[in-house]
Amino acid sequence: MEFKVIELEREPIDFDLELAPGAVDLGEEATQIGQMASSGLAEVLHEHRGPGEVVADIRLRGKFAGKFEVPCARCVEPVEIPLAAEFDLIFRPSEADAEATERSITAPETEIGYYLKDSLLLEDVLREQVLLSLPVRTLCKPDCKGLCQRCGANRNSQACQCDEGPSDPRWEALSGLRSKIKS
Ligand SMILES: [Zn+2]
Ligand SMILES: [Zn+2]
Repeated sequence: MEFKVIELEREPIDFDLELAPGAVDLGEEATQIGQMASSGLAEVLHEHRGPGEVVADIRLRGKFAGKFEVPCARCVEPVEIPLAAEFDLIFRPSEADAEATERSITAPETEIGYYLKDSLLLEDVLREQVLLSLPVRTLCKPDCKGLCQRCGANRNSQACQCDEGPSDPRWEALSGLRSKIKS
């Protein structure tokens, strides 16, 4: 969904929608499972910067909720996590801060982002909001045993034959020899 400044100048836009998986590109970090719900309000805020200079900011307030899958930090199996968050964001036209002076804005609770040209894409905002709300580290279970460092087996489901101790150099020499014979 695209919010055009010219349309928001006429009146604020309420939105309430369901986004199918893929509508928001989450990259490799997470996969959306089922629909993601998002609703809120987009409006224009005029920043008066001295005589004759008015910057049209877009304020986007809303929330999202959905289910996502992320890889377990130890065994890489997908873990389903529900996420929901609220946001209150301000986007300035990207050229407005070109002179790079620090300007204060009278909305202390909000964060500043930028929009390109004359519109803001809800999907871009949601991508960032979903990625920001992902836990730093997800485990499939608190005592996930992870993958075997040697053979790569998932040790939650498979007891592998690798022993735990430091590898025996004699055995390594032997396995090196073996692979030579094979090739
Ligand atoms: Zn795991
Ligand atoms: Zn192993």
